[in-house]
Amino acid sequence: MQQPIVGYHRDEEDHWVAELACGHNQHVRHQPPWAERPWVLTEAGRRSRLGLALGCVKCDRGEPRDTLPEA
Ligand SMILES: [Zn+2]
Repeated sequence: MQQPIVGYHRDEEDHWVAELACGHNQHVRHQPPWAERPWVLTEAGRRSRLGLALGCVKCDRGEPRDTLPEA
């Protein structure tokens, strides 16, 4: 299911995680050559992707919402 990005945070390994409108989190790693997402490394790049829809496999599986880490 396609879900727009509504925010971001970093996980304990310093990888960026997109927060989707459905309440699920999805890693948006920049790990060439497997995952090329240089935009995730900059504030401007991340902001420009807000609202972009990602395919959410957790929705497809009917998984419960992810809990956000403590702020
Ligand atoms: Zn979802």
